[in-house]
Amino acid sequence: MRSVHSARLASAGAEPDAAGYDAVLPEWRDEVVAATAGRLSRYDLDVRLDVAAGTIGGRERITFVNQTGRSLREVYLRLFPNAGYYGTGGLTVTDLRVDGEPVEAPELSVSETVLQVPLSEMLPTKGTVEIALAFTTTVPVDSTGSYGILNVDSATGTWILSDWYPILAGHEPDAGWRLDPPTTFGDPTFGDAALYQVSLTLPAELQVVTSGSGVGEVTEGGTVTRRYIAGPARDFALVVDADYAAISQEVDGVTVTSYANPGAEAGAASALEIAASALKVYSAQFGAYPFAELDLVDAALAGALGVAWTGLVFLDGPSLYGGMAAENPDGFAFVVAHEVGHQWWGVNVGANSNDHTFMVEGLTTYTALVWAEEVRGGETADQLLARGVAGPYRQSLEELGDQVADLPIRDGQENRGPIFYGKAALGFLAIRERIGDAAFFAALDTYARDYAYRIAEPVDLLAAFEDASGEDLETLWHFWFEAAETTVEDVDALLEQAAA
Ligand SMILES: [Zn+2]
Repeated sequence: MRSVHSARLASAGAEPDAAGYDAVLPEWRDEVVAATAGRLSRYDLDVRLDVAAGTIGGRERITFVNQTGRSLREVYLRLFPNAGYYGTGGLTVTDLRVDGEPVEAPELSVSETVLQVPLSEMLPTKGTVEIALAFTTTVPVDSTGSYGILNVDSATGTWILSDWYPILAGHEPDAGWRLDPPTTFGDPTFGDAALYQVSLTLPAELQVVTSGSGVGEVTEGGTVTRRYIAGPARDFALVVDADYAAISQEVDGVTVTSYANPGAEAGAASALEIAASALKVYSAQFGAYPFAELDLVDAALAGALGVAWTGLVFLDGPSLYGGMAAENPDGFAFVVAHEVGHQWWGVNVGANSNDHTFMVEGLTTYTALVWAEEVRGGETADQLLARGVAGPYRQSLEELGDQVADLPIRDGQENRGPIFYGKAALGFLAIRERIGDAAFFAALDTYARDYAYRIAEPVDLLAAFEDASGEDLETLWHFWFEAAETTVEDVDALLEQAAA
């Protein structure tokens, strides 16, 4: 079992290196450095966005820290733009070097989404190696692949860039490197926290919204080079657009900014209010949001209302700001509160959201209900629970029977949403009902701290609830997350119990 407490003890005598942590608010920096010092890989990206060519690329240097717990002969990078569903999109790597030495004919596999980087000598655990390369990513145009998270919109000129550069493959202690084919269900992203330093050159008239914080810019003629620092971050995502209007609010030192396309200003303003209040509620319950910035950005997605990245939330403007914000304000607020909740579950505490989708999406959905309860009151929270969470699951039970929540997304269950979001959220409600508020929130607070900037497994989350309550929750956990024997009567009994 991994424990942040022993890591803290072990590093107590060493001088922690705070370089690269400038995206973290000064008051949390020591704590974040202490929890991660010497453990995080670093990305240094020096890239140019070429509007005419439809590409972004340049040089990348990864200082990889071997935290896999075993000696390594090779390291794996994921090249997600090569996923088949991106059509004309793609990513090519050239001039690959390891500690300065060229790598001849590096091996690509899994539909060219995996690049094997051979090491000239065995890399011991906790050892460091420098991987340098040049790359060009061709961004697909009007693509709906992976919810539109890598796309340039030909009508609006908006660039949505996630999973756009070569990124270290996710690694799990038991399963090893995660090199599975990108699934068309969900986004393929799964990675460890790292520190980012990014230099981006692009036409000066374009606005850029990114993970992390801007730390400087130099304009030369018609182009500008902007510099960013992010991390500990699981990714460096950005959106580029020419005509955003931005409004900001400060919450406990965090600048929350909402970016809107013309006409979407009212929706973006209410998203800002909701995000600010969610940040307050979650920081009080699950530990402070440690970064100086949180950005919400109006970005047209495909089949998703929102997608969260480190310090950056994509919100599907056309459906949210264009309709839902006015027509169904509670449902709209629930979506925004959910996406902000991912800053705790998925971003801060990492998990393999393709293998254990339920523990990220179910917990985040339940967390948004906690926001509703605190800010909008019990009646609204009960309605959202009944209509937005239990309702779809109840319907799915009636139509298809029950399904297991803790199953990999690629196993392609029918109608997965009501299971991962609905049934799983009900499972967390059932745990709260069993152990009571004090133990439930104490467990999540401890879980958030112990697994911050790490990868948690379902058993870690179960252990957090058991440790905080002193109860054996194995049977309850199995019933909601690992079995397929829940009935409509079980759901109704739980809702009745929760309302009492
Ligand atoms: Zn989600």
